Amino acid sequence: MGNIKDHKIVTLGSHTALQILKGAKEEGFETICICERGKEKPYISYGVADEIILVDKFADFFKIEQGIIDQKGIVIPHGSFVAYIGAEKVKNMEAMHYGTKGILEWESDRTKEREWLQNAKIKLPKVFESPDDIDRPVIIKFHGAHGGQGYFLANSPEEFYERYKEYQGDDDYAIQEYIVGVPVYSHYFYSRLNDELEVMGFDKRYESNADSIGRIAAKDQVDVGIRTTYTITGNVPIVLRESLLPMIFEIGQNVVDASRKLKGAEGGLFGPFCLEGIIDPQLNYYVFEISARIVAGTNPYVHGSPYTWLRYDEPMSTGRRIARDIKEAIESDNLQKVLG
Ligand code: ATP
Repeated sequence: MGNIKDHKIVTLGSHTALQILKGAKEEGFETICICERGKEKPYISYGVADEIILVDKFADFFKIEQGIIDQKGIVIPHGSFVAYIGAEKVKNMEAMHYGTKGILEWESDRTKEREWLQNAKIKLPKVFESPDDIDRPVIIKFHGAHGGQGYFLANSPEEFYERYKEYQGDDDYAIQEYIVGVPVYSHYFYSRLNDELEVMGFDKRYESNADSIGRIAAKDQVDVGIRTTYTITGNVPIVLRESLLPMIFEIGQNVVDASRKLKGAEGGLFGPFCLEGIIDPQLNYYVFEISARIVAGTNPYVHGSPYTWLRYDEPMSTGRRIARDIKEAIESDNLQKVLG
C-alpha cells in the first residue's frame, strides 16, 4: 500500500491555493506553495504551506520543477495555473500533474469547447458567425479579455459596428446570444476511482461594474456614460432551487461521458470542473463555458458547502476532495489513475 507521506501536494500561490493546501493538510499531506516574491503573505498567515518556494514570476516554475520532482510533489492545477504557465508548457511538465492534460486544449479553444458541450447535449447560447446576422441581444467576447473587461452588448448589426469602432483591428472575438437570466456556476467533482459524479456547490460571480449598475438610476447610467464591464472581484455562494438538481446532475454526467470521446484527452475529464451559465425564466440552463479544473467559485466553501455537508459528515471543500482522491489513489496503488 502506497503512503501519502512519500508525496507532497504542490500548487501556485494564487486563485484557490489556500483551499487546495488546507484541504491537503486536512487529509494528512505535507504541502508546498510556490509564490511570487512579495505575494507570499496569505500563505504564511493562514498556515497552509509546510514549505514556500519563492520565484520572481510563476513562469519560472520550470526553474524549480526538479525540486518538486525530487520530493514526489503532485501539482494541482487551478484557474490561474494555465494563465501563468501557458497551456503548451503545462503539457510538457514532468512533475506529477493531477488531471488530464489533454483536456486543456478542449477547454481553452472556443470551437472545441462548443463541440464538446454540444456532444453532451447541453443548451448553448446561439453563436453568430457574422455581425450582419445579429437579430437579438448579443454579447461580444474578445479572446483573452481577462474578466470580460472589453466585452460589449449589441442589439443589431448597426449597434455592433458603432461599438466595434473602438476595437478596430481586433478581430478575435465571438458573438454570442445574450441570455437574460441569472448567472449560475455549477461545481462538480468526478472521481475515476469510484466512477461517481458529485455536485459540490454553486456560486455566482461578483463583478465590477456589472453588479453595481443596478444601484444607480437608468438616467444616471446614461448621463455618466457607464459601460458594463465584468471584472471579477469575488464569488457569492448560491443554493439552487432543489427541483433543478436532477437537471444539474444529468448535464454534469453528460459532460463527463462526452469527454471520454475527446481526441487527445484520452481517459477524459476527472476531478473538479465547473459549468458556467445562465438560467432563464423558463428554467433553461444555457452554458457558455466549462472550466475543467477547480474554480474560484468554490472558495466560499473552505469548510464545505450545503451540498457536501449532505454527503460527507465532515467539512469537505473541493480542495480537500482533490486531496482525498489522491490519497485514495495512493493507498490503493492507483496513483496513475489520477495523474495526466
Ligand atoms: P473566463 O471565465 O474565461 O475568464 P470571462 O470572465 O472573461 O471568461 P465570461 O465568464 O465568459 O468572461 O463572462 C463574463 C460575464 O458575462 C459573466 O458575468 C457572465 O455571466 C456574462 N455572460 C457571458 N456570456 C453570457 C451570455 N451568453 N449571456 C448572458 N451573460 C453572459
